[in-house]
Amino acid sequence: MICGFMPVSLADYPGLVAATAFVYGCNFRCPYCHNSGILGAGVLSRKNPDFAEGPVRFYRNEEITGYLSSRKKLIDGLCITGGEPTLWKGLKAFAADVKALGLRVKLDTNGSRPDVLEEMIENRLVDYVAMDIKAPIPKYGQFIMDEGDIENVKRSVKILMDHSASGGNPDYEFRTTVHERILGMDDIELMGRWLSGAKRYVLQAYRYSPEVLDADFCGTKPCSPEFLEQSKALVSRYVAEILIRS
Ligand code: SF4
Repeated sequence: MICGFMPVSLADYPGLVAATAFVYGCNFRCPYCHNSGILGAGVLSRKNPDFAEGPVRFYRNEEITGYLSSRKKLIDGLCITGGEPTLWKGLKAFAADVKALGLRVKLDTNGSRPDVLEEMIENRLVDYVAMDIKAPIPKYGQFIMDEGDIENVKRSVKILMDHSASGGNPDYEFRTTVHERILGMDDIELMGRWLSGAKRYVLQAYRYSPEVLDADFCGTKPCSPEFLEQSKALVSRYVAEILIRS
């Protein structure tokens, strides 16, 4: 269910003016998560007792589509993020409603529901996918609650790369939050090899905020520019386009 809405963003959908809808709930527990208030009941009190989970305002789908319909000339698309949107049973119907308005849909996902991802691609309900790569496979356990999701993430990577290789939609990026406290250069190398042949890989610099789920783990200092540049140089051996978002 949608629990947050940003009417205009220039940063969420590459190259487009988009609105952003946040979907409640997530099956991962990334220590650097900035959206910890919408992951699900009790998360903050366990991980960050200083930060109380405030009341969440839920939206009816029609509130969002009504707004989008009235701004179609100003907005190119909608970014659906979270939380983890693919856990929401209403995702496909909602994306279909947005597509019916003639707008483009971007999906942000942790890749844990490959069947939903594939169905959305097959039914042309998504134009751009941004999929998180949390860590090399041996370290995924630090970010997830169910070990079974590792195989799901691997399947989602393959789905996106296979669709792209066969010339089909959607456009996509893989993206990793980077900080020297969270991942070492050997981890960056392993992820680069895993994603070898991918179209686009985005390295996002970790930034602290009071909402971060586990600041003890991540620290309060931002990722150093040097580490980002070294990471970029390493993974550019494997992936054609590397972008840094800091
Ligand atoms: S997958 Fe995204 S929303 Fe879920 S815990 Fe990780 S960073 Fe937060």
